[in-house]
Order: sequence, then structure tokens, then C-alpha cells
Amino acid sequence: MNYFLLTIRKQYDFDCGPKDGGRYDLSHACSVCGSGALRIDPIKLPIVSLKDMIAITLKHEVVVPARLRDEVKTLAPLCSRTILDSKSSQAASFLELIPEITLPSFSQKTTGYITERQCPACKRDGHFNIPHVPLKLSYKIIPGDFDVAATYERFGLSRLRPDFKESNFAVPLYVVSDRVRAIFSAEPGVEFEPVSIG
Ligand SMILES: [Zn+2]
Repeated sequence: MNYFLLTIRKQYDFDCGPKDGGRYDLSHACSVCGSGALRIDPIKLPIVSLKDMIAITLKHEVVVPARLRDEVKTLAPLCSRTILDSKSSQAASFLELIPEITLPSFSQKTTGYITERQCPACKRDGHFNIPHVPLKLSYKIIPGDFDVAATYERFGLSRLRPDFKESNFAVPLYVVSDRVRAIFSAEPGVEFEPVSIG
């Protein structure tokens, strides 16, 4: 199995996150900044604004159109969750692509990123891409067989607030399998950077 860093160029100008009241599992998250918080409820988005394309929200939530729904559910059954309409809370035909595992830390061979203002407790957030420089992920080993995995490292800055809805969590990047690449490869604005292992 080969793995690829998934990059999605098309972006909606809205997001979801803790502000919509969704629940998060904080059991593996940093107690200072919240990095590693795992969303357990479906995200809520304005369905009328969604288009027939693969796109990310401002918080890198990956939105899969109804056209690809069956293929994703069949080939990567653990890696999707129905999106709810933010107005009606009804289930939509769009899916969110979600990771089934979190990878270990990437190795020192990884290039194409910088770190700044990281949480001093976990140093897990505060990763940033470098404009026009591809991020080339490298791992010593990758666990098992999966279709969508989250990087351990989080991109952006996290903050955990007493009023949870004001919290903001830096986002993981997604590493996907050959199977997911096959589903998405013909979609505009979707790119795959090979991940090196070993
Ligand atoms: Zn932290």
C-alpha cells in the first residue's frame, strides 16, 4: 500500500469547529491547548452552499459531494461521516472525510514546514506550511493498513478556552491510501504528495 499527503485546493469560506456545539473527545488532547481534540459529532454546515466538488472548510474539514458518497462508503468504510445541515440539523447527502487513526510523529527527514508559537506543553500545534514549498512527509514506520489517517502534528495554533465553544484547534493533515487516491484522483484541485516510509 502506498500513502499520500492529501491536499485540497478548493475551499469554502466557512467552517465548523467547537462553536457549533458539537462534542469533542479530549482524552488524548493536550490539557493546555487542546491539540488532539477529536470531534465525535457530525459537523454542521449550510448545505445549500455546498457544491458538487471536494473542498475543505476554513478549518480543513473535508467535504465530499453526494456523487462520491457510495464509492467512499464502500472503499473506505471507516472514513466518512454524514454532514448535518446547520439550519435544520437534518442529515445531508454530503460526507465529511474523517481519519480512522492518528499517525506517529513524522521523522526528521520530513521537509517543507516551519514551527512557531508552539504550545510549550505539547509542541504538537504551531506547524505551518511554507508558501510554494511542498510538504514532504516522511515516517520511520506507518501502522497497519488504513485509508485516512491524521498527522500527529497539528497545523495552525490551538487554544482551549473555559467556554469550550470559543476553543480553536489546530488541524491535522490527512494521509490517504491508494484506494482513496483512486476515488479522488480525477477531482479538480485535489493533489497527492507521496509519503516516504523508512
Ligand atoms: Zn498543547
